[in-house]
Amino acid sequence: MPDSTSCCHATGGYCQRCDLLVGLPGLHVTGVHRDDAGLRVEVESRPPVVMGCPACGVVAHAHGRQRVVLIDAPCFTAPVKLWWRKRRWLCPEPSCPVTSFMEQDPEVARPRALLTSRATSWAIGQMRRENASVQGLARQLGCAWKTLWRAVRPVLEAAAADETRFAGATSLGVDEHVVRHEALLYRMEVGDLHWLAVVAAK
Ligand SMILES: [Zn+2]
Ligand SMILES: [Zn+2]
Repeated sequence: MPDSTSCCHATGGYCQRCDLLVGLPGLHVTGVHRDDAGLRVEVESRPPVVMGCPACGVVAHAHGRQRVVLIDAPCFTAPVKLWWRKRRWLCPEPSCPVTSFMEQDPEVARPRALLTSRATSWAIGQMRRENASVQGLARQLGCAWKTLWRAVRPVLEAAAADETRFAGATSLGVDEHVVRHEALLYRMEVGDLHWLAVVAAK
């Protein structure tokens, strides 16, 4: 098609429009695949000019990539898996306790997280504002409810510990709803699985 205006014909570079669509600053789309399970978006970062060891600061050596699969927020009615080709690095300093390390970006996902940071935020927003169930959200994300719960629990616990959040509240409404929903989630966590099934089915 000589009149094709495909956004992805640029060779040797990244596609600005695909990057804009996916919206993960610092990461570039290298591939997209869609099947019955949902969307798979492959991303990588641009190679840094120089990478310092996080422990000693010595210039590290590139040591290949490792694919990390993350559950991202659903998009275009489909669950999304993010395939992030993370860069690995070696620290050449013999006295450094860090021999190798992997690219990290907590804006995208916390180390060892299974969900992206925005997927976690999205799920918590759905719980708080839309009264969504963990089971229903997990279905939309294409993961097990336990996987989602492990991601949201520490965030909810941190929010619950921040008592100042409710200081000065004079009326019940959205805040009351948030408190009730979080209390519900805590009850789920203590292990009443039968009761959980009832909650999840609502
Ligand atoms: Zn493109
Ligand atoms: Zn080092």
